[in-house]
Amino acid sequence: MRTITDLLNFTSPEEWDGIFETVKCRRALSPSKLPDMDYALNPYGGCEHGCVYCYAPEVTHSEWKEWRIVRVRSNIADRLAKELVNVRGVVGIGTVTDPYQYAEKRFMLTRQCLEVLKAGNSKIHIHTKSDLILRDLDLISQMDSEVGITITTLDDRISRITEPGAPLPERRLKTLKELTDAGIKTYALVGPILGSLEGNEKEFVEAILSTGTEHMSLDRLNLRPKMTERLQRMGIKGSDKALEKIRRIAESSGLEVTDVFE
Ligand code: SF4
Repeated sequence: MRTITDLLNFTSPEEWDGIFETVKCRRALSPSKLPDMDYALNPYGGCEHGCVYCYAPEVTHSEWKEWRIVRVRSNIADRLAKELVNVRGVVGIGTVTDPYQYAEKRFMLTRQCLEVLKAGNSKIHIHTKSDLILRDLDLISQMDSEVGITITTLDDRISRITEPGAPLPERRLKTLKELTDAGIKTYALVGPILGSLEGNEKEFVEAILSTGTEHMSLDRLNLRPKMTERLQRMGIKGSDKALEKIRRIAESSGLEVTDVFE
């Protein structure tokens, strides 16, 4: 059985089989403060991707060391079906945790919610780092949908250090390409932009361009009090210099560039 110690050791994603806790939620939807989203829907609490720059634990008043323990909101699709009757607007899926983290393979709550949303003709906006989203292309392609795939580096080693449970960059680029090729409105969510991207900006933008997406959304490192010490210990910094260079190269290459928080 996996323990908290295993969790903190960041076992490789291939070996990781998760620590899950089944809970019931009282509400499926909450108001969203993110741009272009009216409601937030998060089938899971906690996130197995374990990104070192994740500020969601602070936003949700959780402990970062326990963030990889996933609370599986087992009744969320039923709740959603009841709440959807009064909902008009865009439902953001994965505003605080990744809706296609490993738990989704096992519990399929995101897919259940998509089925409910599709039946209700809802508009959706999904954020993920995972190629598991391709499993649901049959549903997403029939909906009024927009998908952002987060890509922060092309370097597997940096990705393993900073986003230990998430799929590697190449898989994310392929996912973005497959979604775009399928006619889904997509964008590369590039953030947080770390110092490790300095000097690699051109190659990075070219990789995004190769997916065929026409949009890029940029985000700087959002430092919160509890994560500052952790990132300093790891020597990880944000880079406004890389952000502005990526913006310049992307815009001159024809990509539409926005900021996550304008
Ligand atoms: S994928 Fe998102 S929610 Fe999950 S750990 Fe990484 S930054 Fe946090």
